[in-house]
Amino acid sequence: MKDLSLHPCFNEEMRHKQARIHLPVAPNCNIQCNYCNRKYDCCNESRPGVTSSVLEPLQAFNYFIDLKQRLDNLSVVGIAGPGDPFANPEETLSTIELISSEYPEMLLCLSSNGLNLAPYIDRITKLNVSHVTVTINSLNPETLTKIYSWVRDGNMIYKGLDAAKLLLSRQLDAIVKLKEKGMIVKVNTVVIPGVNDNDIEALAKKVSELGADTMNCIPLYPTAGTPFENFQEPSKEMMVRIKTQISKYIKPMNHCARCRADAAGLLGHDLKESTALLNEYASRPGHDTSERPYVAVATGDGLLVNLHLGEADSLYIYEQSPKGYKFIEQRLTPPNGTGDQRWVNLARTLRDCRAVLVSALGDNPRVILESCSIHVVQMTGLIDDGLEGIYEHRPIRSITRQEAMGCHGKCSSSCEGCA
Ligand code: SF4
Ligand code: SF4
Repeated sequence: MKDLSLHPCFNEEMRHKQARIHLPVAPNCNIQCNYCNRKYDCCNESRPGVTSSVLEPLQAFNYFIDLKQRLDNLSVVGIAGPGDPFANPEETLSTIELISSEYPEMLLCLSSNGLNLAPYIDRITKLNVSHVTVTINSLNPETLTKIYSWVRDGNMIYKGLDAAKLLLSRQLDAIVKLKEKGMIVKVNTVVIPGVNDNDIEALAKKVSELGADTMNCIPLYPTAGTPFENFQEPSKEMMVRIKTQISKYIKPMNHCARCRADAAGLLGHDLKESTALLNEYASRPGHDTSERPYVAVATGDGLLVNLHLGEADSLYIYEQSPKGYKFIEQRLTPPNGTGDQRWVNLARTLRDCRAVLVSALGDNPRVILESCSIHVVQMTGLIDDGLEGIYEHRPIRSITRQEAMGCHGKCSSSCEGCA
C-alpha cells in the first residue's frame, strides 16, 4: 500500500525528508506557451531550467534504479517534461509501466498542460499514478489568447480564441475526471503581471469547486527567446496578494522549488552527481527506432541537402542497408496554402521517418515535426554525411557546395557541379 503523504511537494512536512526525481522522457509539446522556450524545461513544473538530456523509457528506468540506490529516501517519481507527458503518451506510459511493475511502492506523479490528458486517465489509474498537476492560467479565453500561440490537437492546429476555448475545456474536464478516479490534483498557474494576475482568484474558486486539492501560483520567469522575455516578474506583493486571494478557496502550495525536468533529490537540494548520471544513461542503448526506419531529405539533385523545406515539392526517402544508404522513393510533400496544417500533414506523410534533413526551414514546421517525433536536422552538404550522422548518432557538419564538390574554394563559378 502506498503512503500518499510521502510526496514532498504535496505535503510540506516531507519537504526536507523525502526525495523525488523527475524523469525527462517527454520532449515534445502539443501547445506553445508564450513563456516557454522549447530548449527549456516545462513550466508545468515551475522553473524553465534546461534539462541535460532526454531519456528513452528503458534508459529512464535504468537511471531510476541507479538513483534509487543513491537516494534511500526516494518516494516520488515524476514526469514533467521537458515537453508535455501526454504529447508523448507512449514514452510516458511505458516509463511508468516499467517503474510501477517493479517498484509498486513508488508514488507516481505527472504534470501536464491538460490538453491530451483525459484520454489517458483510465490507463494512469490502472498504473497507480496518484498525483497529477494541470497547469491552467485563466478561465478567461481572451486572456488565454495572450498566453498561448497555438494548440495542436491531433492533426489540427488552433490559434486565438479557438485554441483558448479548446485548451480550457480540456483542462477543466481533466480535473473532473481525475477526481472521479480519486487522484490528488494540483493546479499550477503561471502569474503573468498585466495578463492574468486579476483572473487567478476566479480560477481558484472554480478549480476548488471541481475538487482540485491544491494550487501552486508560480511567478513568471521571463525566458529569452519568448514573447514574454521582456515582461516583468511579479512583485513579492503581487504574489502575497494572490496567495491570500486563492486561500479563500483552496490550499496554496507555498514551498515549490521550481524544479528542473531532470530534478533528483530533496527539494532545493538536488543530488550533485545526477546530471552526470543522466547524461551517462542517455548515451546507453534504449532507443527502438525499428518503426521509423527511414530518413527524408530535401534535395534538388539527390546528392546534396540543398532545399528549404518550404520549397521542396518532394522529399527523397532513404534507409540504411548492409551495402550503405539506399534510396527508397521520392515522396510528394503536401501543397502550400494551408498554413501550419501543411506541416501536420507532412508529419503524417513522414510517420515512418526518424529524421528529415533540410537546408533551412521556419520555426513552426520545426516545432510541429519535432512534436511528432521527427528529428529535424538543418544542414548543407552531402546527403550521405547527413544519413551517417543520423544512423550512427554522430555530429553532422554543414559544408558548402564547393567543399562537397571538392573545389576547395578555388573555383569561382556558381558551382552547379564540375561533372
Ligand atoms: Fe512549454 Fe510546458 Fe507550455 Fe509545453 S506546456 S509550451 S513544454 S511550458
Ligand atoms: Fe514539487 Fe514544485 Fe519541484 Fe514539481 S517543481 S517537484 S511541484 S517542488
